[in-house]
Amino acid sequence: MLTSRISQSCRVTSQNVFRRFQSAQARLAESSIESMREENIFTEEHIALRQSLRKIIENEINPHVEQWENEKMFPAHRVMKILGSNGFLGVNKPVEYGGLGLDFSYSIAVAEELGNIDCGGIPMAIGVQTDMATPALARYHNYRGQRWRRLHHQWSKMWITSGTQADWMCLLANTGGEKAFFNKSLICLPLDTKGVDRTTKIEKIGMHSSDTAQVFFEDVRIPKKYLIGDEGQGFTYQMLQFQEERLFGVASVLLGLEKCIAYTIDYCRERKIFGKPILDNQVVHFRMAELATEIELLRSVLYRTVGKFLDGQDVTKRASMAKLKGGRLCREVSDSCLQYLGGSGFTHNPVSRTFRDGRLGSIGGGADEVMLSIICKYMGTLPGRKK
Ligand SMILES: Cc1cc2nc3c(=O)[nH]c(=O)nc-3n(C[C@H](O)[C@H](O)[C@H](O)COP(=O)(O)OP(=O)(O)OC[C@H]3O[C@@H](n4cnc5c(N)ncnc54)[C@H](O)[C@@H]3O)c2cc1C
Repeated sequence: MLTSRISQSCRVTSQNVFRRFQSAQARLAESSIESMREENIFTEEHIALRQSLRKIIENEINPHVEQWENEKMFPAHRVMKILGSNGFLGVNKPVEYGGLGLDFSYSIAVAEELGNIDCGGIPMAIGVQTDMATPALARYHNYRGQRWRRLHHQWSKMWITSGTQADWMCLLANTGGEKAFFNKSLICLPLDTKGVDRTTKIEKIGMHSSDTAQVFFEDVRIPKKYLIGDEGQGFTYQMLQFQEERLFGVASVLLGLEKCIAYTIDYCRERKIFGKPILDNQVVHFRMAELATEIELLRSVLYRTVGKFLDGQDVTKRASMAKLKGGRLCREVSDSCLQYLGGSGFTHNPVSRTFRDGRLGSIGGGADEVMLSIICKYMGTLPGRKK
């Protein structure tokens, strides 16, 4: 009897929390738009773009997220088609390639709004398509020759996002030459090319909606028209492309982290221990305030870095700092929030999903240690590379 009363009261608590969480979600999305208004790189057009994207997320994506998480794959073609036909895929790509011809700040506006999707896997997969695998292609176009290039006999590439369902991949491959930084080329490789096998799906602890494949290659012959830009320049192109990747990645986690905090505050306000809401413990509400402050600081670094990127400045150091801090915050915020949810934190809920999905932030797209090395290089403290 007692057990059933307790479990009933827990159910009521979590239903209330979910209801409140939904309204908190809407409030947060509005306040993140307010932050954009305060920055001079953003205009009413950015805001309008975000508001229409939010409708698509609410109507076409979020209602299916639970199912796609369980199925461990979202229907990438269907979702990309919806986004593409509404103008949200590659907003900063040239109009002649189907983009909107806008600048990178619009891509960041899209990325931030994608944080309204109820999981990390789908925003990541969309970002891989729009701002990680395609910037170099849009910048340098395809090689115009007709010759073939044969790649090594047998090799494979781990960790290809959307790899089991994608039509093509952006591949950085050794194509010959002596000099370390000039022996690689970027290739836009159709995945139905003879000798390519992408059927090995990798099981993961998070980002469930996003399928990740190990792709195998055996005696693959690639027409040179699939080369991006010039042969041997792939490494340089990729280093540039990384900046957009990292900034997009940071923008896409902000709202998810704020939602974690909102959910935790609601839960801890509702749940009482010895007649007192958990939230009333100073350590709890102070921690939430501290983390909210860190997220706001991350947002500021992001916006300032995007401003410099738009001015054509080298943002490698700042983008690496933002990526490092973003990865760290994904872990800190979700870990603290999960802790204050107690046993409920260890069940399936938005916080535990962020805990699992967000863990990738410190690993993917260059691990924290790689970001630290880049920052050290710019600070002149990396051994052997002193300025
Ligand atoms: C779900 C998922 C999706 C992904 N999607 C893609 C994708 O679409 N395309 C793609 O190309 N890649 C993708 N990746 C790969 C991802 O970018 C790499 O996993 C990441 O860059 C780390 O590389 P690694 O796994 O080879 O780790 P390693 O390079 O083996 O490094 C392992 C660990 O060593 C430590 N380390 C590394 N360098 C240093 C250093 N200098 N000093 C001290 N410690 C160091 C770090 O802690 C690091 O985590 C994906 C990965 C995952 C898990």
